[in-house]
Amino acid sequence: MSVTNHPAVAAFVGIGGNLGQARTTVLAAMDALAQLPQTQLIASSPLYGSAPLGENADGPNYVNAVAQLRTTLSADALLRELHRIEGAFGRARSYKNAPRTLDLDILLYGDTVCHTDTLTLPHPRMHERAFVLYPLFDLKPDISWHNALGQRVSVCDLKAQIADQDISRLD
Ligand code: ADP
Ligand code: MG
Repeated sequence: MSVTNHPAVAAFVGIGGNLGQARTTVLAAMDALAQLPQTQLIASSPLYGSAPLGENADGPNYVNAVAQLRTTLSADALLRELHRIEGAFGRARSYKNAPRTLDLDILLYGDTVCHTDTLTLPHPRMHERAFVLYPLFDLKPDISWHNALGQRVSVCDLKAQIADQDISRLD
């Protein structure tokens, strides 16, 4: 395990699943995030239900949520931990947008903007996804960040632009 002196950052993780007991899996994933080394779970959003999106997307509706972490793990180390948790929940990688037991994405990692083979920050599709923006808004209605073009965008403005997407809050 890596031990670093990385400063603590606020990181937001998108959680989704649409196979099996998706609601149970999403809640268990929150617990797994809370157990990560060098990391605290600061807040977890309400759960949402959403229809599968994207090319070849199919299967049952998703259960989605967002977790706010405070971590001294590097972004790469956090991504490795997320992949490990996905694997522990039986995630298989078949084709893009395939149904999955659990998907964990780093949405925001502090103010980091990066684009490598394995990690793009902020997450490249978060700005267009209701299942990310709704729970993120619940956690931090005033949050804003720099997109890939260097423009400052806010969850509030983006949420208003995707009001047509099929999403519902789960009890
Ligand atoms: P998706 O989440 O887009 O449906 P996957 O979960 O299979 O697809 O992720 C595909 C790849 O995306 C991962 O192997 C990972 O390296 C890469 N990736 C790039 N940026 C991120 C990010 N911000 N969060 C999570 N994965 C990312
Ligand atoms: Mg993913």
